[in-house]
Amino acid sequence: MSADPTIPARENPPRHIRLTSHAGGYGALPIRWAAATAAERGPVVGTTTNRSHRNVIGTHSGSYSVYRALAVASGALSASHKADLTNTSPTDIIGPYPQWSEPGRIVAMDPWGATIADVFGTELAAGYDIRPTIAVTQAHVILPEVIEALQSGRLKADGKYLTAGGAAMVTKVAVEPVWFLPEVAKRFNCSETDLRRVLFEETGGMYPELVTRSDLEVFLPPIGGLTAYIFGKPRDLANPEIELTARVHDECNGSDVFGSDICTCRPYLTHAIEECIQGAQRGGVGLVSYFRKEGRALGEVTKFLVYNARKRQVGGDTADQYFNRTECVAGVQDMRFQELMPDVLNWLGIRKIHRLVSMSNMKYDAITAAGIEVVERVNIPEHMIPADAQVEMDAKMAAGYFTPGAVPTAEELKKAKGRGLDA
Ligand SMILES: [Zn+2]
Repeated sequence: MSADPTIPARENPPRHIRLTSHAGGYGALPIRWAAATAAERGPVVGTTTNRSHRNVIGTHSGSYSVYRALAVASGALSASHKADLTNTSPTDIIGPYPQWSEPGRIVAMDPWGATIADVFGTELAAGYDIRPTIAVTQAHVILPEVIEALQSGRLKADGKYLTAGGAAMVTKVAVEPVWFLPEVAKRFNCSETDLRRVLFEETGGMYPELVTRSDLEVFLPPIGGLTAYIFGKPRDLANPEIELTARVHDECNGSDVFGSDICTCRPYLTHAIEECIQGAQRGGVGLVSYFRKEGRALGEVTKFLVYNARKRQVGGDTADQYFNRTECVAGVQDMRFQELMPDVLNWLGIRKIHRLVSMSNMKYDAITAAGIEVVERVNIPEHMIPADAQVEMDAKMAAGYFTPGAVPTAEELKKAKGRGLDA
């Protein structure tokens, strides 16, 4: 909260919509993060169509805001275009859940972002350009691994969750990041002032308001968001009595889409989808949450540089050097920082995950620290690990990733198991 007397007080819920600028030059609606109702919380206004209405730093669509700028610059898009949201409302209602207003539970997305037409109808009618930051739709997802599981008898079609042709029925939810800076800073054990200054400096000064407008506490960062794929009824996610199978997956384009064999990302993803379908068919519900955090959030250029460094080093690609090689290139072993990941689980009302399809101790620790119980951890079956990915698997197990089997010894880790570059 700011002590600046020129900024509208935030203590009281708004009684009316302020259409005119205040003495300090601010005409925007206040945001009271984690308030119990949408009306008390207030809308997130991140559009650039009316600057005086903006109550956040940054703008919508994450990194795609830059493409929007290109579209405006090239004359293809009018800067004043207002979205026509007819028929775009969610196919399934999610929440509201108690977690939405529990202090500190959700700090990196807007819980009301899917239902703005319902909860902020008055403000929309008054001319505020409020955009959804969450969209909910339904889809069929068809994967060759699921079809193979059907053919081999591991999965059975039921016409409800899985068709005879191998299409899984899902509800999918796209989420853009919306950061409440005071609480994001707490998750990273730094001060809000330091977080703002570093965000400003490390993006080359992209958002001066980070340092000049301490009254604006919400930031729409120019990064990718996440997509949640739900197998079964979305409302069952919030019922701890119903078996939930879940995976939180970080993007790996090389494996997820193109089938690269140096890691286990796609095998883990398709294994989790198979587990989710089976879970739904047992009367449970499944969830795969897919985060746009390519290459441990280091990006693909860094990732490919590390691949070369691993394969060219003296002694070949070994598990004992796996994390070192990343750290040499990137300065850190991993930049995914799972601290913000559990927000979507809390948004979906989840209290208990019966089967977490993940080996990652960082994900497990973040989920349990966010107040969610994990009953069982499910690791990837041995036969699904590509030969060249054994280096990664050994390194992760030695570093503390969950495994029900034996942890590789120091001697084991020194053996070259990865292919060379020319092989
Ligand atoms: Zn991968």
